[in-house]
Amino acid sequence: MTGSDARPRGDETLRRLWIRDPLAILAEGAGGGIVVEGSRIVERVAAGAQPAAPVDETFDASRHVVIPGLINTHHHFFQTLTRAHPLAINKPLFPWLKALYTVWDKITPDAFRLATRLAYTELLLSGCTTAGDHHYLYPKGLEDSVDVQVDEARSLGIRAFVTRGSMSLSEKDGGLPPECLTQDDDTILADSERVLNLFHDAKPGAMVRIGLAPCSPFNVTKRLMRESAALADRHDCQLHTHLGETLDEDAYCLEMFGQRPVDYLEEIGWMSPRAWLAHGIHFNDDEVRRLGKAGVGVCHCPTSNMTLASGQCRTCELEAAGAPVGLGVDGSASNDSSNLMEGVRHALMINRLTYGAEAVTHLDALRWATEGSARCLGRDDIGRIEPGREADLALFTLDALRFSGAHDPLAALVLCGAHRADRVMVAGRWRVVDGNPVGMDTRKLREDHGRLALSLLGGA
Ligand code: ZN
Repeated sequence: MTGSDARPRGDETLRRLWIRDPLAILAEGAGGGIVVEGSRIVERVAAGAQPAAPVDETFDASRHVVIPGLINTHHHFFQTLTRAHPLAINKPLFPWLKALYTVWDKITPDAFRLATRLAYTELLLSGCTTAGDHHYLYPKGLEDSVDVQVDEARSLGIRAFVTRGSMSLSEKDGGLPPECLTQDDDTILADSERVLNLFHDAKPGAMVRIGLAPCSPFNVTKRLMRESAALADRHDCQLHTHLGETLDEDAYCLEMFGQRPVDYLEEIGWMSPRAWLAHGIHFNDDEVRRLGKAGVGVCHCPTSNMTLASGQCRTCELEAAGAPVGLGVDGSASNDSSNLMEGVRHALMINRLTYGAEAVTHLDALRWATEGSARCLGRDDIGRIEPGREADLALFTLDALRFSGAHDPLAALVLCGAHRADRVMVAGRWRVVDGNPVGMDTRKLREDHGRLALSLLGGA
């Protein structure tokens, strides 16, 4: 199979590609594969059947397990520059953050661009086709961070959900970050409007969407939270923030605002399906019920939660209450890898520890990383393999030693620890072929990114 990158666009006839006879596929009635036309899936082919209409190309998927492209709903790309940093390892959230703030203010525009490129590439290689980032760091020189993230996503061909994050409450006003890492509310709101006007595409099939993401209750003002919600309504975009990550945050909210985090969320007007929360761990029964009723999404970040010992997300109760549950790798300083397939495995494990071995299956963990994540992002055009949805696919082989002897191919992906896709398709175009990102020199990227990261060793 060759050449689907050359597929015509616009008014020209769209080429039809049959991904045929997969080893296994996470889709109903598609044992014979699927047909992709342009950027979309147009047909599921039953086992032993032929497509309904002639195809232009065929890809033999008999060595591949095919799943919907994974969707990452929380990350901080810049943190790839401070993985396993000596100032931060072995610390819980607040001391970890305070240590890293002293390093992050030294990130240069060049380093930030490469951090973005590296994170997108890592995600893509793990089978991720829609990469969300929560970028809240705007020291001098990084004012156009959203522009850089959109630009890099377009170069790589990955679907992006870039959230314009922010911090406006510094130490002197009772917040956590130093003043040099914050911007004032008006600057943030003006730039939010700018990037929404420039890049946000609310249409089905969008390759770039923008969301608004004040960082967390302990580093932004209530005014910014409220006005971001109003701006999101005007531009039809999603809202994102960290909430319920640690017990320290509960204590902070009670002391600073006299209320628990979910009461705070309600007061600032965020209890709606527009909002999805990173972590969402420390909610009581009543709060779970209220979040579910409002349709607020929760991005479960299992690897990060275990690394920082933040706690165990109440995924099953939240889903049962009606809240979309998705997955995220979280920033690379608290999850030192950006591998979403690894996150799927970690989600299975930590949730089994919480709920028992029979209550959470590999299919549940995969559902969170695909359909659940899509719902968090407010999208119904990605996240499942079915006609009408975008052709975002991750194809894994079971050729490595770790899979030898495995029987159920879909379960093997999760239980044996798949972590690198053989092929990845985004919007009908192959972006990873034979385990390598198309058009990317990963060796050079590793060298350049690593070199720039060295300058951030700081006072360690
Ligand atoms: Zn985070």
